[in-house]
Amino acid sequence: MNIISKLTGQFPQEDYPKESRIHPLLCQPSGRGRWFIKREDELGFFTSGGKIRKWRTLIPSLVQKKIDAAFLIGSAQSNNILGLSLLLLEKGIRPVPLLLSTHDLNPKGNRLFIELTCGRENIVFVERGSWHRVDETAALMASEWASKGYRTAVIPEGSYTPDAFYGAMTLASDILRNENESGCSFRHIFIEAGTGLQAIALIIALAIACHPASVSVLLLKDSEAEFQKKLEEWRLFLMERFALEVDRSRLHYSLFSPAVQKSFKPLSGSGMDHLIGFAKMTGVWTDPVYSGRLIMEAFSQAEREEMDGDLLLIHSGGLSSLFGFEKALQRRLSSV
Ligand SMILES: *Cc1c(COP(=O)(O)O)cnc(C)c1O
Repeated sequence: MNIISKLTGQFPQEDYPKESRIHPLLCQPSGRGRWFIKREDELGFFTSGGKIRKWRTLIPSLVQKKIDAAFLIGSAQSNNILGLSLLLLEKGIRPVPLLLSTHDLNPKGNRLFIELTCGRENIVFVERGSWHRVDETAALMASEWASKGYRTAVIPEGSYTPDAFYGAMTLASDILRNENESGCSFRHIFIEAGTGLQAIALIIALAIACHPASVSVLLLKDSEAEFQKKLEEWRLFLMERFALEVDRSRLHYSLFSPAVQKSFKPLSGSGMDHLIGFAKMTGVWTDPVYSGRLIMEAFSQAEREEMDGDLLLIHSGGLSSLFGFEKALQRRLSSV
């Protein structure tokens, strides 16, 4: 058992799948590295990728507190809200999504399944103009429900909470297993960041394990300064929580921003062609919001930085959002 499993083992965990395989990419981009991909997408369908790791410690913490209603904050296409709602229902906990309203009469993709799963009437749609106050709105609702006798919890966007962080640390532990079994030793590991939780958990867990790999983080939402501030907050929090020293000098990472498309929007146009081309060439589908964007950017980043050795791409899942892009995909049938 490695040190990361020892630390995360202090917390109750659900027995969701936590071992995903790695395999080499059939088409190796130019450059000196040898590329592998870690198939977190194979850990589940609606409940896949990095998220299922977060939930393996988040769900037990809610069960332990005997929560009966959880208020979930997120975008209308949130992978977190959809997957987490399913696992909450399994435990008899009622999910109440607070979704950023997009005024869509014909919901598609994850939003369709969120509505079908939770019931449209149970969803709180928050207008964009009021979204900056969504945490307050959720807290207010939670206390109203509490006064009616419910035990409530509020889950922030992306399950950005300590109870999810411990589970997210299992990714690093599983990479150590992949290395042992394959004989690879990864020099660079690529992952994308939304809230940043899964990337930060990876960086800190590798530091705790004294692993030499550097994590290359594609920042989709935050600026470098915002990400660094979060990383430092978590470092201090975990040092206290685990009573151990994680010196800043042991955090090996670099940050980069999308070159192709700066704003946090799904791939479209030639980006979508790239995503389809990658699936055809390698047999690996990615989603246009997260992992497709990582694939789009990682190879050129590795080339710019002249990276060599074993390079690992983390495929964090999120494939169910592809159903929201049927039209754009259909349009490409004629051209592929
Ligand atoms: C949620 C999600 C992310 C972002 O994870 P954070 O921990 O919020 O940074 C990245 N990729 C996929 C596929 C996701 O579903």
